[in-house]
Amino acid sequence: MKEPFLSALPIIENIQKAGYEAYFVGGSVRDFLLGKEIHDVDIATSATPTELKAIFPKTVDVGIAHGTIIVIRKGQGFEVTTYRTEADYKDYRRPESVSFVRHLTEDLKRRDFTMNAIAMDKNGSLVDPFEGQKALKDKLIVTVGSADERFQEDALRLMRAIRFVSQLGFRLESETEKAIGTYAHLLQHIAVERIMSEMAKILDGPYKTDAFLILLKSGLYQYLPSLFNERDVLVTSLDYSVSTLNENQMWLLALHFSHTVDSVKQLKEWKLPAKKIKVLLRALDFLKLRIHHDWSAYHLFMAGRDIAVLVETVYQTIQHKPVDSSVKQVNDHFDQLTIKARNQLAVTGNDLLMWADAPGGPWVKELLENIIQAVLNEDVANDKDQIRRWIKACGLL
Ligand code: ATP
Ligand code: MG
Repeated sequence: MKEPFLSALPIIENIQKAGYEAYFVGGSVRDFLLGKEIHDVDIATSATPTELKAIFPKTVDVGIAHGTIIVIRKGQGFEVTTYRTEADYKDYRRPESVSFVRHLTEDLKRRDFTMNAIAMDKNGSLVDPFEGQKALKDKLIVTVGSADERFQEDALRLMRAIRFVSQLGFRLESETEKAIGTYAHLLQHIAVERIMSEMAKILDGPYKTDAFLILLKSGLYQYLPSLFNERDVLVTSLDYSVSTLNENQMWLLALHFSHTVDSVKQLKEWKLPAKKIKVLLRALDFLKLRIHHDWSAYHLFMAGRDIAVLVETVYQTIQHKPVDSSVKQVNDHFDQLTIKARNQLAVTGNDLLMWADAPGGPWVKELLENIIQAVLNEDVANDKDQIRRWIKACGLL
C-alpha cells in the first residue's frame, strides 16, 4: 500500500476496531489500478455519521444528509461516506436525501460506472461485483446496471461519462453510448455549476477531441450553456492540436472560434468566477492584437506574463505551429523587460502632480503611460530624476 492510501489506513482500522466495515472506493481505487496519480482518497463505511462521530474526536460535517463527513487526522482531512442507496431520484437529479444501508454491494450499485464501483480493503484486496477491473482492462466506460435507468436517475452522469473519455481515453460501451444520445436532453435539468465542474475536466483532458466527438455525435452539446453549444466551436477545434491545451487555453480558443460576439454573456452563462472571466476577456483582446502584430515590450507589459503565455499558446495553436519554442521566447522577452509591473515604475501619479503643481485629470494617466512606454523602450532609465528630466526635455510637463 502506498500514499495517499497509507495515511488513510488508520481511519479504516479505527472504524473496523469499532465493529464496522470500511473500504477505499471511487476514483482513488480506479486511478490506483490504472497506475495514475491519486488525488483524494474516498472511504466508504457501514457506520452511520453519528457512529463515526463517536469513533473520531475531530470531524467536520460536509454533507450529513448524504452521509458524508470529513475525519481529521494529524491535520489532514479524509472524506468518509456511509454506505447508501439513492432511492428517490426526482427531476433527473441526484436525490435530496438518501437511505443508509449496511451492505457494501448496495453502495457500489448506486455508483455511476463499473470502473468507479470497485472497493479496496486495507490489505489491497478488491471487491468488484460489477466487473470494474474488466472494464479498466478493456478501457471501457460502462454504467452499473441499465444505462437508460442510470442516466435518467441523474443526468449529470452524461457529462461524467464524457469527462472520463477526455481524462482516460476510454471508449463508451455501446449501450452506454446509445443512452447518452437518447437522454441528452435531460442535461437541461442539471445545475450549471455541476455541468461546469465536469466541463472543466473535459477541457483539461488529453483526449478532449474524443470527448468533443461524443458531445457532437450524441447531440449533448446542444444542451450545454453557450459557446460550447455552438457546433462549429467543437467541430473547428477538432482540426487543431488541442490535446495538451489546458482549460483556460481551451476557453480562449473557443471564444476565438465562436461566431457569437457577446463573449461576456457566454462566459457568464457558465457561471465562471468573475476573476476568470476578466482574465479570459483580456486574453481575447490580446489574442486579437497578437494575430496582427508580434509582441511589443509595451503589450507584453500590459498583458502580464500569465496572459501573454496563455495568448501565445493559443495563437501558435491556431497557426498550427509548435507552441513550446514560441512560449519560451515570450517568457525570455518578458524576463528582459525593464519593468514588469506598474509598481516597479520609479515615479507615481503623485510625483507627477507635485512636479506639475497642477490639478489632477486624465493627463496624469496619459503621462504615466508615456513614461512606461519610454522606460520599456529604454528611451529613459527607470530612475526618478532621469524621468523628471526626460519629461521636461520632451516638453511633456
Ligand atoms: P475524480 O478523480 O475526478 O475525483 P471520481 O470518480 O472520484 O473522479 P468524484 O466526483 O470524486 O469522482 O466521485 C467519487 C465517486 O462517487 C465516483 O467514483 C463514483 O463512484 C461516485 N459518484 C460520483 N458522482 C456520481 C454520480 N453522479 N452518480 C453515481 N455515482 C457517482
Ligand atoms: Mg474523487
